[in-house]
Amino acid sequence: MDCLFCRIISGEIPSKKVYEDELCLAFKDINPVAPFHVLMIPKKHIASAAEIVEEDAALIGHIFAEIPKIAEGQSSFRVITNSGKEAGQSVNHLHFHIISGRRLSLELG
Ligand code: AMP
Ligand code: ZN
Repeated sequence: MDCLFCRIISGEIPSKKVYEDELCLAFKDINPVAPFHVLMIPKKHIASAAEIVEEDAALIGHIFAEIPKIAEGQSSFRVITNSGKEAGQSVNHLHFHIISGRRLSLELG
């Protein structure tokens, strides 16, 4: 499949892994917007948050149980997912940005 993040999961494209298990992978964003910027993705290809269905509930729950462990040590952090081009989605594989390490404004952009 022609998907950048599926290729990262398969190891075809290298990444700086932070965490991995059978369901998900977390790796450093190549273009960080803050001192701490990690992407958390499901290994299952889901195109965006708009494509999440009821049967993904356990997977999404698992991801959200892992996120605080990844952000451990950060006094504050933000989790963002962009769904759709106009929301800023540039890779069509569901990903959660975990951003921390600087003061974040209320602006989403
Ligand atoms: P979004 O714009 O919300 O779809 O987020 C996509 C993110 O993927 C951006 O923050 C990019 O910097 C990041 N990104 C793109 N290519 C890579 C890559 N090869 N390794 C790590 N992060 C990447
Ligand atoms: Zn994919």
